[in-house]
Amino acid sequence: MKLLVVEDETKIADYLRQGLTEEGFAVDLARNGLDGHHLAMTAPYDLIILDVMLPDVDGWRILQSLRDAGKNVPVLFLTARDSVADRVKGLELGADDYLVKPFAFSELLARVRTQLRRGSPAINADRFQIANLELDYLCRRATRSGQRINLTAKEFALLELLARHQGEVLSRALIASQVWDINFDSDTNVIDVAIRRLRAKMDDDFEPKLIHTVRGMGYRLDLPDED
Ligand code: CA
Repeated sequence: MKLLVVEDETKIADYLRQGLTEEGFAVDLARNGLDGHHLAMTAPYDLIILDVMLPDVDGWRILQSLRDAGKNVPVLFLTARDSVADRVKGLELGADDYLVKPFAFSELLARVRTQLRRGSPAINADRFQIANLELDYLCRRATRSGQRINLTAKEFALLELLARHQGEVLSRALIASQVWDINFDSDTNVIDVAIRRLRAKMDDDFEPKLIHTVRGMGYRLDLPDED
């Protein structure tokens, strides 16, 4: 799951990025309205957390541009403004939720997850199962044959991406764009290493093997091909 945070207050921006990254999200951060507007309009995100008061281009305008362009990505407004008129304006412009600063990170996280569940039919399900692998997206829990697999937030995010695209070959570039942030250096073999670690935890000691390497193309999660 890839999020964009548009926030000009350094402390809050860094706090959000760190907290959401630790939860396994890939987070791009824009520290002003112009960058935020550009990223929101050009890059695909699963959700945008948008400050209202921003230098250059304010949050209202970014939201308006998004909706005018027909982009219905969930937008969560995060703002110090708490007047009823502002809330109404945000919701009328098409914001999906509205959170007033100061806020508790746990509440933000709960609202983010709620919006992501509503976001698209493909991610509506809270659970995934294939063979003896079970994923609980809400609790961020993976089990195989009922045995708990301890994954890092990043590993779970990687497995979740593969599971949500079961049967599809995902290229390294796509995996990088969805699980890592914009600063990811695609020349590295980070993804191959991450896949290897993930396999060691959830595939090597179990049958059937579920993560498959498609040579020259990428990775796929599915039942093994029947010969
Ligand atoms: Ca601000």
